[in-house]
Amino acid sequence: MGELNTFPLSYKVKGQRIVIVGGGEEALNKARLAIKTTASVVIISSRIESDFSGLPVDVVARSFAPADLDGAALVFVADHGPDGAAAKAAARQRGIPLNVVDVPAECDFYTPSIIDRAPVTVAISSEGDAPVLARLLRARIEVLLSPNVGALAALAGSMRDRVARLLPGVRARRYYEELVTSPAVERALERGAGADAAEALLASHADSESESGVVWLIGAGPGSEDLLTLRAQRLLQQADVIVHDYLVPDAVIDMGRRDAERLSVGKKKGHHSFTQAQINALLVRLARQGKRVARLKSGDPMVFGRAGEEIAALRKAGIGYSIVPGVSAALAAAADTATPVTLRNVSPGIVFATAHGASDEELHHWASLSASGITLALYMGKSVAASAAIRLIIHGMPARTPVGIVVNAGRAERQLHRGTLGELADGGGSFSDGPAIIFVGEAVAAGDWTGAAEIAVRTYKVA
Ligand code: SAH
Repeated sequence: MGELNTFPLSYKVKGQRIVIVGGGEEALNKARLAIKTTASVVIISSRIESDFSGLPVDVVARSFAPADLDGAALVFVADHGPDGAAAKAAARQRGIPLNVVDVPAECDFYTPSIIDRAPVTVAISSEGDAPVLARLLRARIEVLLSPNVGALAALAGSMRDRVARLLPGVRARRYYEELVTSPAVERALERGAGADAAEALLASHADSESESGVVWLIGAGPGSEDLLTLRAQRLLQQADVIVHDYLVPDAVIDMGRRDAERLSVGKKKGHHSFTQAQINALLVRLARQGKRVARLKSGDPMVFGRAGEEIAALRKAGIGYSIVPGVSAALAAAADTATPVTLRNVSPGIVFATAHGASDEELHHWASLSASGITLALYMGKSVAASAAIRLIIHGMPARTPVGIVVNAGRAERQLHRGTLGELADGGGSFSDGPAIIFVGEAVAAGDWTGAAEIAVRTYKVA
């Protein structure tokens, strides 16, 4: 991540002056920004060329004089003549932060792109040559923010003392969360009844017993932030604790609330740092403390996620839970390779299976399904790929059946391998690091495996 040469902050200007030296278009643009604040805005120029008449600003039509900076919080210079030069020198001498319009090298500060929902502002800053990007982002963020954000923030602020008295700690936060996300409160606000709605909500929060915890089993998807669902993201923002597996990358975990506690219960192959029983007990304990627990699992929580055991433990303990689906690795792998895992006249279905610990009976069953063209998506199979392939062939699956392997599916660093079941059985493949999905079936041939490494047949050298 790059380091910043500037520090974004909010600067107090109340009761002070913002002085703009210049009378043209650039000065007008800065004036439009400056009047968003309660500072008094002064335009100074002997050449007033733009129309400032509609703006709440003082226009002083004369040359700049150093005393114009008395009581100034900020100075904008939008004049490239002697007036501007004098203003720059005066501002520097007095140590007043200076912005020289369109001359970044001379600026002490830059103005961000602003989304104004007073008392809330979203400011998007960019350094160097990225102002276009900042404006574009601003437009995208603007549509996400309800016009009522400012009013909601003001409403929340007006409740602060009473909430602090009635709702301790975490319960206050939950109150505010509901206040600012509740459609009912927003509608009330639009009718001018926001205060009543806020009070009613406070009463109901104060009434309810100290709140009980809950566990959300959340699918994190295959490991890219943008393959997280909106619901997953929302709940991660509400969680008090995030309990995650090792397969969930940091970038996804970072989508959670900043001050949520994070617990890794990494169950990496061969490094069982927590047993399943310990994880179950942990979830129950955290929820009993009244916490909202996001149990974040890679892919979909219901697919090879040990969700069954966790749900059973929660049910037994009488703890509320809900499940948020995620993009399972096989589906991310299918997308990465444009492989239609079900395909008319080729593959009537797909089996999500684990090669690990599969019994001969299961393998026999899959091999016989293969006659119908069914696609096998093998999870947790990389380390046992060759032996699984051998056994599938023994049980009747043709050695020429196409195989495609996606390592790190759904992530930037994905790697593809392809070949046949026979080649896989031969053990010639050495696969890239990372979790992998192994597809076996005719549908693989319909995918786009451009760039895939061949699963080469091992060559034996006779010494
Ligand atoms: N619940 C997960 C599966 C967890 S089991 C899901 O629905 O995807 C762990 C196995 O999932 C790994 O051994 C691997 O086979 C597969 N896997 C998880 N993430 C993966 C990824 N990004 N790319 C390929 N395979 C992945």
